[in-house]
Amino acid sequence: MTTTKTTEHLACRTDAPAWYPTQVGRKVELRRTGTDEVLMAIYPPAAWGDAWGWNLIDGGVVVERTADDEVAGKDACPGCGERRQDNLIWQDDGETVKCTTCGKQYTPPTQ
Ligand SMILES: [Zn+2]
Repeated sequence: MTTTKTTEHLACRTDAPAWYPTQVGRKVELRRTGTDEVLMAIYPPAAWGDAWGWNLIDGGVVVERTADDEVAGKDACPGCGERRQDNLIWQDDGETVKCTTCGKQYTPPTQ
């Protein structure tokens, strides 16, 4: 049995790299060029609210929180008390947060 590997490339339909603001409950879809088949959909954490944007950088989709503020006190890192959202990173499971200040991984009570 032979397995054929194909290489696919991301195509950006926009003229220039830019940040695109999106809203809570919406998603970014990766579609196959030509067929528009949806290959993957990216859903930022609901806790980010409306404060996020996406961009294509170096062939990858980058989703970032665009507001620079702090989480509620009860959602702060239990290890060191970090509250800056830039230093509290949602993990791929969508339930736990990793603190980049002290390395602690935890589940915030508010989602
Ligand atoms: Zn911490």
